[in-house]
Amino acid sequence: MKSINNELSVHGGPILISGPCSAETEEQLITTCIQLAETKKVDVLRAGIWKPRTKPGSFEGVGAEGLKWLDQAKKETGLKTAVEVANVKHVYSALKHNVDVLWLGARTTVNPFAVQEIADALEGVDITVLLKNPVNPDIDLWEGSIERILKARVKNVGAIHRGFSKYGASNFRNPPQWQIPIELKQRFPELTMICDPSHICGRRDTLLEVSQEAIDLNFDGLMIESHINPDKAWSDANQQITPNELQKLAESIIIRDSKLPLKGENIELDLLRQKINILDSELIDILSKRMEITDNIGLYKKKNRIKILQSTRWEEIIERSVTEGLSKGLSKEFIVKFLSDIHLESITRQNNIMNSNKWLDKILVKR
Ligand code: PEP
Ligand code: MN
Repeated sequence: MKSINNELSVHGGPILISGPCSAETEEQLITTCIQLAETKKVDVLRAGIWKPRTKPGSFEGVGAEGLKWLDQAKKETGLKTAVEVANVKHVYSALKHNVDVLWLGARTTVNPFAVQEIADALEGVDITVLLKNPVNPDIDLWEGSIERILKARVKNVGAIHRGFSKYGASNFRNPPQWQIPIELKQRFPELTMICDPSHICGRRDTLLEVSQEAIDLNFDGLMIESHINPDKAWSDANQQITPNELQKLAESIIIRDSKLPLKGENIELDLLRQKINILDSELIDILSKRMEITDNIGLYKKKNRIKILQSTRWEEIIERSVTEGLSKGLSKEFIVKFLSDIHLESITRQNNIMNSNKWLDKILVKR
């Protein structure tokens, strides 16, 4: 696999894919696209033609008619175009209307049957296909969808990170869980990675922050939704920005050197890294000591026939640690996540202690 950055980039710098969440009318789409081209920042125009909506009765896209408008926008601006395809009919329609880039949405990559059907329809086609992560944080499923398209010998393949669904409150519409795209890049070092801050944030005011973070994490580009009149958009109104705002956002992103100095090249950084290494060792030491105490508590509970999960004790731990963490500049979200992982490990260990059936092991060994 080779990187497709050159394939998509017109203006140099990070690849910028932009356009409305949905094509709504000919005028809305073409005006948006022309204004985007005028920013001289956008490399590829996007538009949703068939919209996968959570609830029936919402606007489900204008359908193939919108592809004619997008083709017109392509002719007027000279820019490449991208649309989401979710089935074979969409693929044929998009190919017929000269679309340059197809992407599979988060609700499609979650379904191997759908991905395979699209892969079969694209066998050997000279086109670019971008795979959004599945809605749920399953890296193997994301990897599998990429493999299916690669196996079909599609010319150019890349990935789009759009965050993962959540249950409960969060500042994000789809929390980014950056470790997942980072691991995907380790699995496919040449893969072009685009970040979609619009669907991660679900709102306008945090788009720049997430875009900057993506670029700092070495993403090759961004997909950001834009609209001539965002407040009146027929879908995802809260997260769309005007072409003018997009231009300002693109100009505000700081491009840092992607290469970190090697050991010995920068004394200041070496010292900071040494400090981190020491603290990491201390953390591991502390965690190991904490687990030893957990095991002792497990033995005590077993002896005294006390249940593993004591919710009030857990709530007390969280409350105390959040207060302490906040006073030391750590976020509540981080403390709760960190302690939840520790708690889960403690429960697993205590369960092993309380329910280890030594007599069963002996019987199985005998047989
Ligand atoms: C979109 O890009 O408009 C879209 C529907 O995205 P996702 O598949 O990430 O939800
Ligand atoms: Mn959208």
